[in-house]
Amino acid sequence: MAVTAYIGLGSNLAEPLKQLASAVVALAMLPETTLVAQSPFYRSSPVGPQDQPDFINGAVQLTTALPPLALLDALQAIEQDQGRERLQHWGPRTLDLDLLLYGHDMIDHERLQVPHPELPNRDFALQPLLDLAPDLTLPDGRALSELRRQCPDNHLQRLEPVGSDTPSWP
Ligand code: AMP
Repeated sequence: MAVTAYIGLGSNLAEPLKQLASAVVALAMLPETTLVAQSPFYRSSPVGPQDQPDFINGAVQLTTALPPLALLDALQAIEQDQGRERLQHWGPRTLDLDLLLYGHDMIDHERLQVPHPELPNRDFALQPLLDLAPDLTLPDGRALSELRRQCPDNHLQRLEPVGSDTPSWP
């Protein structure tokens, strides 16, 4: 049976916007999966070490019949395909894909925690989810809109596509 899942995307190396655009194409091509919607992209300040470029973040909504661990395997394969480099915890990376929500499931597996444990603390993950689904809640009933109000500020800047009134793609 197909489930609605939300994937968070982030990159701050090797032309981040291209990394995210390629990742969205790869996600749309996953087996037993439909790409339903894509959020706007945001620029955000890095968490952890500050001597690294800003991140570009976004999220997508999927419906998928892939079980959670198969979906995680697929996300990690896309990260590897795009030459993910990560030399340092919370350091720069070519592509980071996080399984943020998988239906209303709560998963506590050695390889996979869902909802993603850092989701409540990350405005750059919460805001794109709210753009996709303003009334979204965690499986425990907490509203993402409320978590967004309470979480630390990473100076999100929404990027507008080229051709809009205020072009600001990097
Ligand atoms: P990261 O530094 O965020 O890329 O962490 C990658 C590691 O987090 C991998 O070993 C995954 O198995 C693990 N992980 C646990 N929960 C999740 C999740 N919800 N989404 C993606 N990776 C996860």
